[in-house]
Amino acid sequence: MNVLVINCGSSSLKYQLLDMDTETVLAKGLAERIGIDGAVVVHQPAGKDKVKFEQPMETHKEALDIIMAALVDADHGVIKDLKEIDAVGHRTVHGAETFASSVVINDEVIKKMEDCSELAPLHNPANLIGIRACEELLPGVPMVGVFDTAFHQTMPAEAYIYPLPYEMYEKYRIRKYGFHGTSHRFVSLTAAELLGENIGNLKLISCHLGNGASVAAIRYGKCIDTSMGLTPLAGLEMGTRCGDIDPAIIPFLCDKGYTVDQVNTMMNKESGVLGVSGVSSDFRDVEAAAEAGNERAKLALDIFIYRVKTTIGAYVAAMDGVDGIIFTAGLGENSSKDRAAVCSGLKYLGIQLDEEKNSKRGEALVISTPDSRTKVMVIPTNEELMIARDTVELVG
Ligand code: ADP
Repeated sequence: MNVLVINCGSSSLKYQLLDMDTETVLAKGLAERIGIDGAVVVHQPAGKDKVKFEQPMETHKEALDIIMAALVDADHGVIKDLKEIDAVGHRTVHGAETFASSVVINDEVIKKMEDCSELAPLHNPANLIGIRACEELLPGVPMVGVFDTAFHQTMPAEAYIYPLPYEMYEKYRIRKYGFHGTSHRFVSLTAAELLGENIGNLKLISCHLGNGASVAAIRYGKCIDTSMGLTPLAGLEMGTRCGDIDPAIIPFLCDKGYTVDQVNTMMNKESGVLGVSGVSSDFRDVEAAAEAGNERAKLALDIFIYRVKTTIGAYVAAMDGVDGIIFTAGLGENSSKDRAAVCSGLKYLGIQLDEEKNSKRGEALVISTPDSRTKVMVIPTNEELMIARDTVELVG
């Protein structure tokens, strides 16, 4: 069964075509700058060179037209006919309390997703555009929506209710939702396999550390807390996002003459490691600057490590213990130095890292020593595969 996985952003569209009989990627790619100058599709058939299509694309449907043509092209195609696409799995961002698991998309689901759009005004409308474009181009092919928030719907009320007046939750659905759920779910399931344990017996903390970053407490396979909130702005320090700050800072800045929009942009796009270091939002650049003696770059990284560590500590308390800590995403998968820095503050968990294993890259691996009381793992995330697996499960 071939599944096309689509991740639609406001001006971009990522895709992967997977053969789910073998769980292999047949082709993947990215359309960027849709609707703006310089639009491009980069198509990568497995085992072959990348192909670039630089041409104007006004809509996501036009981008998908190019992608579909590439998938069946005689030279760089990987299937003969679009009929070989058996199902489409869409990454869908905000499912609010409506979607606690993946769903087969129909008119009713689309209506409910529209209803969730006010909670993710940048993401949900873009996801819906992708869904409608696929409906037109692949009529009759079943589609599944896999929500970023769904995995976190098992959190108990004490973790997700903000101590605001309760009507704010009832009237406006203001609560903690959490994001990166597909990634946290994928790596926690893989961790159980790696440890040879039933996930139903494990207390895991998964650290998705990329440009956007979040931590999740996963007890016996179910998420019980996570660091992002109503929006992905909460929790850890990130590439450009501030994470948790005293909420009183917002009215304080507004009193100083900043508009709400300016503060919002500041917190989302000008803060985090970029804001503190003044160097870059990319952790590699900030690390290079810190190594060259830039004090603010060092401070930005120290804040990051401190927050990851203290969030892990909070989740050990929330679960009354922990069996395994997982590192994933750009920095979590690639930076042995940062993993070691986080773990160096977790001696009370009996963690001992195996330095040689911690220096490896690209594979799912236990990087703690055999007698380490808490296991530490690096697990490359694979949200596309998780989406494709859910799609097969629902429509296969
Ligand atoms: P997102 O999907 O949220 O955009 P990624 O998961 O791709 O982010 O992670 C990107 C981040 O990971 C970048 O800030 C990058 O600098 C960081 N990163 C990648 N490799 C390394 C490395 N070896 N050391 C430190 N940071 C790294």
